[in-house]
Amino acid sequence: MQFPGTKRKKLSLAGDQRSASYPHSLQFYLQPPSENISLSEFETLAIERLKLLKTVENLGVSYLKGSEQYQNKLESEIRKLKFSYRESLDDEFEARRRDHISHFILRLAYCQSEDLRRWLIQQEMDLFRFRFSILPPDKVQDFLKDSHLRFETISKEEKELHFQDILDSSVPLSGNKYELDAVYKVPFSDALDLFRGRKVYLERGFAFVPHQDIVSIILNDFRAKLSKALALTARSLPSVQSDERLQPLLDHLSHSYVGQDYNAQGNVGKISLDQLDSLAMKSFPLCMRQLHKALREHHHLRHGGRMQYGLFLKGIGLTLEQALQFWKLEFIKGKVDTDKFDKGYAYNIRHSYGKEGKRTDYTPFSCMKIILTNPPSQGDYHGCPFRHSDPELLKQRLQSSKISQTGINQILDYVKGTHYQLACQKFFDLTHNVEDGMFSLNHPNQYFLESQKLLSGGREVRKEPSQPEVPQARQSAQKTANSASSSLPASLDSTLEMDMEGLEGYFSE
Ligand code: SF4
Repeated sequence: MQFPGTKRKKLSLAGDQRSASYPHSLQFYLQPPSENISLSEFETLAIERLKLLKTVENLGVSYLKGSEQYQNKLESEIRKLKFSYRESLDDEFEARRRDHISHFILRLAYCQSEDLRRWLIQQEMDLFRFRFSILPPDKVQDFLKDSHLRFETISKEEKELHFQDILDSSVPLSGNKYELDAVYKVPFSDALDLFRGRKVYLERGFAFVPHQDIVSIILNDFRAKLSKALALTARSLPSVQSDERLQPLLDHLSHSYVGQDYNAQGNVGKISLDQLDSLAMKSFPLCMRQLHKALREHHHLRHGGRMQYGLFLKGIGLTLEQALQFWKLEFIKGKVDTDKFDKGYAYNIRHSYGKEGKRTDYTPFSCMKIILTNPPSQGDYHGCPFRHSDPELLKQRLQSSKISQTGINQILDYVKGTHYQLACQKFFDLTHNVEDGMFSLNHPNQYFLESQKLLSGGREVRKEPSQPEVPQARQSAQKTANSASSSLPASLDSTLEMDMEGLEGYFSE
């Protein structure tokens, strides 16, 4: 891929060439794209694919993968995002092109750490599985051929010979279907998943795989190739990162957030400082409750905590004057005198409100940013408790929030599965007594707004909300355990990212 600054060579292909470029809705992504695209298209495609993969992740946890509901929801989301999904649609060229290019962009952004690679591979595999499942049977052979996947099919005689063995080992498979479909003979090592699930007939080092089960073999291949490609991409990253146009964009993409930015806008000045303690107990997500409580107890927060909490408070509507008053009152209760506060911390707070330095109006951090960057160390209180807290400590906090044991287990299951935002959303549902999945949580300020909407009767509540978490006994410094509802996409503007680095500098002691 090349990224020209201003000139862009438009790709213009005749009808036949268009279909030849992308013969199927499903791709194995063997060849990287070679056309020129603008930086703005690069950014747009990256955001769109992130949205798609995030949807795949959310649906995979909310529904049984492969179930009718899952298939229907995923199909409709893919259609909404204008990515390819149906083999038979007439002109899918643009959708397939977007699919191809955006996949490779995310490879660049998500090859940078083990966590990111694992996440990308999982979502891409689920997406592939879905698309394969709706591929018409008569197109499967073409797809395999075009993707250089050569699976040997067994002869009619061999099929008859092993009829009963294969039928008995591959559940459920009807005799009629067996007659019609191909049976593939693949090396045993390629069919480990089927073997583990006792779903395949083995003989002399080969697995006899009926057509209906071939997807798991193809997925193994897809995973192996993608994993290798990500490792290779990671090795070539230094040369990509030397391009000053791309580096901030890729860095930002790997923890980027694709929803509303939750700047205070209409809420400015609607909250008084006296309300903060009660709001923290009722409507703050766990990460912000933790910061609020630490600040009240220790009258100080280190810079990671000040950034995360300060911007959250700005997002819920604290004015600059209120923020200065709030932080000053706390800090002078601690070891900071008025003079030191005015000279140092006050400047930082004004900076975060865009009144100093480059005058950037900074936005609150999204869950993705909190979960994936700047993990807390000893003495820090920032981060996401579902990601960064010791599991036992998290359990205690959930217990003190009066959540039932079943609810706690559900939350801890999500945490174990590294679905931190879903764990937080479950926490929201249980502490507000609402039905599952009323919104898709991506941002601490979204949590706050949804909670306020519910508590003020903006939404139907099943019953009176139970008292959410009460302040807990003083706890030792947080231990490090080890990971949109809006239609307005936040920009991945590289300038903003660079500005944030500047802000971090301002916030340090
Ligand atoms: Fe905060 Fe988001 Fe973690 Fe919830 S998931 S605790 S809102 S960072």
